[in-house]
Amino acid sequence: MSFGSLGLSDELLKTVEEQGYSTPSPIQIKAIPAVLSQRDVMAVAQTGTGKTASFTLPMLQLLSGDAIPSGAMQRGPSLQAKHVRALVITPTRELAAQVASSVKNYSRHLNIRSGVVFGGVRIEPQISELQGGLHMLVATPGRLIDLYNQQAINFDELEILVLDEADRMLDLGFIDDIRHIQMLLPPKRQTLMFSATFSSEIKLLAKGMLNNPLLIDVATANSTVDKVQQKIHPIDKERKGEVLIHLIKKNKWHQVLVFSRTKHGADSLVLQLEKAGINAASIHANRSQHARTLALDGFRNGKVVVLVATDIASRGIDVSQLPCVVNFDLPYVPEDYVHRIGRTGRAGHSGLAISLFSEDESKQLQSIERLIGHKFKLEIIPGFAPSKKAPVVSSDDDDEYGNFEADTKPQRRGQSQGRGRRGRK
Ligand code: AMP
Repeated sequence: MSFGSLGLSDELLKTVEEQGYSTPSPIQIKAIPAVLSQRDVMAVAQTGTGKTASFTLPMLQLLSGDAIPSGAMQRGPSLQAKHVRALVITPTRELAAQVASSVKNYSRHLNIRSGVVFGGVRIEPQISELQGGLHMLVATPGRLIDLYNQQAINFDELEILVLDEADRMLDLGFIDDIRHIQMLLPPKRQTLMFSATFSSEIKLLAKGMLNNPLLIDVATANSTVDKVQQKIHPIDKERKGEVLIHLIKKNKWHQVLVFSRTKHGADSLVLQLEKAGINAASIHANRSQHARTLALDGFRNGKVVVLVATDIASRGIDVSQLPCVVNFDLPYVPEDYVHRIGRTGRAGHSGLAISLFSEDESKQLQSIERLIGHKFKLEIIPGFAPSKKAPVVSSDDDDEYGNFEADTKPQRRGQSQGRGRRGRK
């Protein structure tokens, strides 16, 4: 399958080629023709599957009025002041910024005006940006409503709505905002919804927002999980920082994304790492937008070796070929484990996911194993055996991570348990 057979215009094919994408990903193969045909779509796909391009590319084509497939309705007039023709709503600022930069990137050969709005920064420049109208706006829910209330935006000509990471929006309590926004939009529109899970809440939301949608599902937990080498190290809770420092130094890791369950935990880990001479920064909801951007930029350009993130803040982080992620704490929500390790081994690259597992986290580990259908082998790091007895298998392999490609995937349980994602919630 090639991009050329999906119905994209020459300009977009040129862009795709310039990006170095040789073959479309499974979500792209299914979503691009569906969006081009102006159908509503409900797609179950995680970050890292190429989902941003799967909706952005065909939307840009529809909005540029170019090569509309025969039989499809003609799109509305071009831009009017304050009008927005397509809206992408994301749960976090980071994701909004990332999607917006993909939109800019993919639209570089088209006559398309796009923008992004989110909270935590001044609203005035956003009001000015909207003044001339936009083909495509990426927004977080709260700021979008603020802008509407200030009459800075007009949805009368809105043709396409995208809800990106809809499951996350529900997790973060944005359901009322989403329903509010839905009421402001013309009922006759194309709606696309992307979610990492297909829980009953998501099904309900989809029912209320989508019209006879095409259901696309490329997001079994295993498809992400299988690309990543996963290690679970039992360790005393109070020694987690120490063992992380040991692993970073011993393996000379230069770019590690570490997940912390709490904001406070993230900050104190950064202090501990800095004390050990490792450049680190945290990214979580209590940090200003400016501080988050600085941390992320530092991490991208290599100045920050360790980025410590909470689950919420981590959602928008897209650093390609991230070699290693560490779960400093195991998440309470097992789906978060899949999201977390999805940061590594992205778009065909293999990656390494390390989890530091303390005795009080047995329940979390069990739910993760149930979700992904894997029974992990616990591996003690020499010199860091936990003081409390746990059912572990010792590893005396001293060169723990010399070879990221090594096939040490966890053993698989019976097939019947292997596809735990859908319908689980
Ligand atoms: P996403 O799932 O949208 O977050 O995309 C994950 C990463 O995959 C991004 O860095 C994209 O640039 C990259 N990507 C998207 N589509 C393709 C493709 N067809 N081939 C290779 N990489 C891709």
